[in-house]
Amino acid sequence: MVYDVVVIGAGVIGCHTARQLSRYKLKICLLEKHSDVASGTSSANSGIIHAGYDAEPGSLKAKFNVRGNKMMDQVARELDVPFKRIGSLVLAFNQDDMIKIKTLYERGLTNGVQGMEILTASQVREKEPNVSEETIGALYAPSAGIICPYELTISAAENAVENGVDIVLECEVKNIKVEGISFCGEDKTLYCNNRPLFDGDRLLYDNDRPLYSIATNQGEFKARYVVNCAGLYADTVAAMVGDTSFTVNSRKGEYILFDKRQGRIVNSVIFQTPTKMGKGILVTPTVDGNLLIGPNAVDINNKNDLSTTREGLDQVLRGAFKSVPGIDKRNIITSFAGLRAIPSTGDFIIGESRVAKGFINVAGIESPGLTAAPAIAEYVVEEILRNTGLKLIPRPGFNPLRRPVKRFRNMEEYELAGLIKENPLYGRIVCRCEKVSAAEIIDSIRRPAGARTLDGIKRRTRAGMGRCQGGFCTPRVMEILSQELDVPIDKITKSGGNSWMLAGRTK
Ligand SMILES: Cc1cc2nc3c(=O)[nH]c(=O)nc-3n(C[C@H](O)[C@H](O)[C@H](O)COP(=O)(O)OP(=O)(O)OC[C@H]3O[C@@H](n4cnc5c(N)ncnc54)[C@H](O)[C@@H]3O)c2cc1C
Repeated sequence: MVYDVVVIGAGVIGCHTARQLSRYKLKICLLEKHSDVASGTSSANSGIIHAGYDAEPGSLKAKFNVRGNKMMDQVARELDVPFKRIGSLVLAFNQDDMIKIKTLYERGLTNGVQGMEILTASQVREKEPNVSEETIGALYAPSAGIICPYELTISAAENAVENGVDIVLECEVKNIKVEGISFCGEDKTLYCNNRPLFDGDRLLYDNDRPLYSIATNQGEFKARYVVNCAGLYADTVAAMVGDTSFTVNSRKGEYILFDKRQGRIVNSVIFQTPTKMGKGILVTPTVDGNLLIGPNAVDINNKNDLSTTREGLDQVLRGAFKSVPGIDKRNIITSFAGLRAIPSTGDFIIGESRVAKGFINVAGIESPGLTAAPAIAEYVVEEILRNTGLKLIPRPGFNPLRRPVKRFRNMEEYELAGLIKENPLYGRIVCRCEKVSAAEIIDSIRRPAGARTLDGIKRRTRAGMGRCQGGFCTPRVMEILSQELDVPIDKITKSGGNSWMLAGRTK
């Protein structure tokens, strides 16, 4: 089959792009090399919906941050994703910080951020009694919010599939050929029948629409348009069509997650003044009620290194204590790391490749990419693809609403009683820390783009996310996965590939 559009990479950008495309009468396919959607950078970040004062005015980051922030209420409502606009504070501890805060405020105004205020020390303490006494003022942005990053990603994937998108997991794009076109010469110029197609400045084959053959470990996919949302590997994928105009490097950020007992130590997202390496160490409640601190920022030469380090976590703790000294270390439940995709251009790279017609790069999407995702998706489809000739005919049956998820922990007793009567498995609690029932786990497997691994269940239901970190519920979740997927229990993995949970029988 020839797809109209193949999207490469099922992170928050690829999933929202696929969902946006599914509004139209198109054949769409989303390819992901991992065993689940939301397995890359979109699974490990701060989960902040940024207000938009941080990005350089005029940049794509600024434009899509502000637009994405505005869109988030509707997107979260449609996709049934919890989202809280709790506001953010950038704390100032000295006069230099105050100068930076004024610059951020001005930038925010230019970027179109609404409702910002510069607060005095006592105004800050009124909002946040637990911040450091060294605080002399802060920039307040009420439009900032918190969201679960993988839920925002998974929900878009689910909705896209419900609207007809094909998703192929464990499908790594290895090579892309443009039919009739080959690479030649050391300068990587594209040739067709020995005729150069790109003269270094513009495409020379404007009248012909190329057909892309995408070679993967699961065979070949053909498409008229390709959208490259491959995150840290977007440069590698772009190079497959001869586009070497940018590179993507990785910058690690480590985090510490605390038990829900610490979740109320702050009410809003607490930042420090940003540096050229990023937005600095933040202290924030998560949308699920935990406390999250981090990230640090270390440039690394490795796109797979998600290890946490003693030095990194110490740096995170020191930074967080500077803002909120009373955080109790005894309530730490886990640590993790995420990798930022740093583009060589200094801004998001969004547009048709200069060397490959109909090949769209959506690359170098570092922070605030989570916030910007719905706005980027809208722009890629409604502007770029439309302007490059893709016919967008609305699909009559498009349903923007994701089927709501029933969550035991959020229900009133009377609702639960009715639900349990309908399906007794809602009364069987599997994860005691997070109060997740067997019915929710089964539902997460049966949904479109459903869970296939322990991590998949964890991200969709929170089973294993609590204080015991899966110590009690893991075997039961594995049993359910085994039954539902009809595979032997020793074939259940943590996150696909060789991440087996069971090594063999003990007796
Ligand atoms: C530490 C940190 C903190 C952040 N905090 C925030 C924040 O608070 N707010 C905010 O707005 N943004 C934040 N961000 C940025 C945000 O997380 C990213 O912008 C966003 O997740 C990028 O999504 P993506 O879809 O481009 O990339 P990814 O989520 O990495 O998705 C790319 C996908 O492509 C797949 N892929 C790669 N190569 C291939 C191939 N050859 N074949 C098939 N599939 C392939 C990968 O497996 C991956 O799943 C943060 C980022 C980091 C690292």
